[in-house]
Amino acid sequence: MVIFNSVKEIQEAVAAYKTSSKTIGFVPTMGALHEGHLSLIKRCKSENDICIVSIFVNPTQFNNKQDLATYPRDLGKDAKLLESVDCDIIFAPTEQEIYNDNELAGTFSFSFNGLDEVMEGKFRPGHFNGVVQIVSKLFSIVTPSKAYFGEKDFQQVAIIKHMVKELKYPVEIIPCPILREGSGLALSSRNTLLTSEEKKKAITISKVLNECRNFVARMSPEELTQWVVNEINKVDILQVEYFEIVDGNSLQKITNWSDSEYVVGCITVYCGKIRLIDNIRLKG
Ligand code: AMP
Repeated sequence: MVIFNSVKEIQEAVAAYKTSSKTIGFVPTMGALHEGHLSLIKRCKSENDICIVSIFVNPTQFNNKQDLATYPRDLGKDAKLLESVDCDIIFAPTEQEIYNDNELAGTFSFSFNGLDEVMEGKFRPGHFNGVVQIVSKLFSIVTPSKAYFGEKDFQQVAIIKHMVKELKYPVEIIPCPILREGSGLALSSRNTLLTSEEKKKAITISKVLNECRNFVARMSPEELTQWVVNEINKVDILQVEYFEIVDGNSLQKITNWSDSEYVVGCITVYCGKIRLIDNIRLKG
């Protein structure tokens, strides 16, 4: 496994692999890796000759400076984990390697066809512009034929698929299932910021999402939304930011179960000060 910090180095390595007809798979991450990330990397490894993982805490997708400052970082530990799953290349650039000063200071904008106006997009203004800005740059540098994204960030997958279509990247987007702890809690880099007490209480999120599937036949989407919010907010340190029942492709809210054949419930909850996201497939 090699670690590259510069764009030039990785481009040269990729060019050499392509000359010998090797296929390139890519997993973009912000580091602080856990088994959830590793599940994407293992899949990438099994479907491509070469697996490239980027580790870059992208400043332009953080709308909250405190969140960016406290985001967990440990390249040494990440490199060990990546070695253990036979990753071929880590790309870990600096901010300056990726962005010029204008890009760091300014705002990038992309047309999302409404996909960014709901849920994460509504509560984190500019977040998805930053995501598209970094993922498009990384795709141009790494030129993978397949790229792997976790369904934990459900809206992100929809947005990246839209980006690939609009910008005509020859990249196949592979969505991968959410990996969870035995307790049900979705694995997340942010879980390391939870105290043990908070972590215990955060289990309620996945528990309630799971339970709510039993009520799909008995409640309207609106009633179910209210039930989920009430159940989670009963736990003193949990505060739901949003729970939305949406069509899994358009991400628009549904009002009747018959509105869509593919329905997903997406949630964001503050556990103390830590913002956790999760989702569950409710139909299709
Ligand atoms: P991040 O480092 O948080 O930007 O995540 C990098 C990639 O790993 C994204 O595509 C995430 O959706 C994915 N990911 C994060 N947590 C999980 C998880 N628990 N299960 C599956 N994929 C995940």
